[in-house]
Amino acid sequence: MVCQFANALKAQGINKGDRVIIYMPMIAEAVVAMQACARIGAIHSVVFGGFSAEALKDRIEDTAARLVITADGGHRGGKVIELKKTADVALSKGCSSVEKVIVFQRTGHDIAMQSGRDIWWHDAEQGQSQQCAAEPVNATDPLFLLYTSGSTGKPKGIQHSSGGYLLNAITTMRWVFDIQSSDVFWCTADVGWITGHTYVAYGPLATGATMIVYEGVPTVPDAGRFWDVCARHGVTIFYTAPTAIRALMKAGDEIPARYDLSKLRLLGTVGEPINPEAWMWYHTVIGESRCPIVDTWWQTETGAHMIAPVPAATVTKPGSCTQALPGIDAAVVNEQGDEITNAHQGGYLVIRKPWPSMLQTIWGDDERYKSTYWPMFDGRFYLAGDSARRDEDNYFWIMGRIDDVLNVSGHRLGTMEIESALVAHPAVAEAAVVGKPHEVKGESVFAYVVLKGERPEGGIDEAMTNELRSWVAEQIGPIAKPDEIRYSDNLPKTRSGKIMRRLLRTIAKGEEITQDTSTLENEAILLQLQGKA
Ligand code: AMP
Repeated sequence: MVCQFANALKAQGINKGDRVIIYMPMIAEAVVAMQACARIGAIHSVVFGGFSAEALKDRIEDTAARLVITADGGHRGGKVIELKKTADVALSKGCSSVEKVIVFQRTGHDIAMQSGRDIWWHDAEQGQSQQCAAEPVNATDPLFLLYTSGSTGKPKGIQHSSGGYLLNAITTMRWVFDIQSSDVFWCTADVGWITGHTYVAYGPLATGATMIVYEGVPTVPDAGRFWDVCARHGVTIFYTAPTAIRALMKAGDEIPARYDLSKLRLLGTVGEPINPEAWMWYHTVIGESRCPIVDTWWQTETGAHMIAPVPAATVTKPGSCTQALPGIDAAVVNEQGDEITNAHQGGYLVIRKPWPSMLQTIWGDDERYKSTYWPMFDGRFYLAGDSARRDEDNYFWIMGRIDDVLNVSGHRLGTMEIESALVAHPAVAEAAVVGKPHEVKGESVFAYVVLKGERPEGGIDEAMTNELRSWVAEQIGPIAKPDEIRYSDNLPKTRSGKIMRRLLRTIAKGEEITQDTSTLENEAILLQLQGKA
């Protein structure tokens, strides 16, 4: 399939070094499209199917792509996602570099095809050979660009190499996932994110693994979907995000109990720190106390796992991503760049030596690359943008993004630490914490909480608030007590499951929302959070 589609791309005039935008549902053809670009040396940039026309347009223009690969639509939570329609809107707003659009027929519903520009995937492939010699590339030629948000509004096009990136994709498949030919590997991430690049499109295929590609959400038709797929296909290695684990945990233990999960042998998490309660649930209920959990810390920029356990070799601790992998020189340092060890004291997470799959630059913006990742320590260390601490065994504990670290009365507090404490309370399903400017303390702690039961009327519950305040005081210390707690049915999340903290900060301050909210999974929740519903 890859070779045939690679020939189709060549027939459309795509050459080595050309940029191709992929805006596809989570189907095997999305992986085929990525691999076909790689085969001919074209640089792909996958845009997550949940992104808006505006976001798609920005990425097309920044890459100056010549071709867009999309589908008529995709399926998500029982609904059809209008990919082609959105792509048409994006293309109507500019994108003058785009010459051709290839459209895969997925849903079969009616869409407009622009003559001379749009071509069906099956027509493009017609008559193309299934042999296509791989285009030789240098190790340092770019393999792909992937846009990620930074501390500013404009997303950065993270540029990854061909050789180094693949090397770490392969080593981490072997070391962290212990991949064997008998395994059935399932990473639930969408190819629109880095996890879907390294552990769906590249790592499993480069190691000859059998893997699952799943289009849909974990809770439709019900919260047993993941466990059903695991049981039906005999999944042995399962990799997902803490946000999904917490959502499924909330649905109750009786749901996974309906499925045969005995084939599972290894579980993984990625994307945010996993709170110990969710870790224990994952371990005992899903892993039946048999499967090691690999909590993998890494980023779009790092390309592959950096800090993670080697299963059965590293002793794990719930909530810690444990130790840096061989060859990765990770450290926690203070403002001066001096290493902090054993101290339970927070600092900057840095990488002190280059590693094969590190980003090469920000596409078209070397200056921004330098100022974002090398702004401190005389440019000696890669600044990950996370804060972390190390415990008495020198294990890493990720505290959150640097911009999510609060300073309350001169004390540093990780918002994620407070969230973890909140969700450890039996009544709490999810929590998000942000800082709110405070005259005396510098910042105060503002918490948004989703309870396991009903949302209290009007989003206020004095008694519960008092209880949670004392609870957090018990878990971390009185300094971490939320000053305010607001209750809602859900939190504002991007479709990849990341909580939009910037929005929460705006709401906490009582300011009007001016940010783009089109990438939110659940835009309607904003009214509740603002106390307007
Ligand atoms: P992304 O580039 O979108 O994958 O996001 C990377 C960021 O997610 C990191 O900088 C961390 O803040 C967070 N992250 C990823 N994996 C973990 C993990 N295992 N534990 C804690 N935080 C994580």
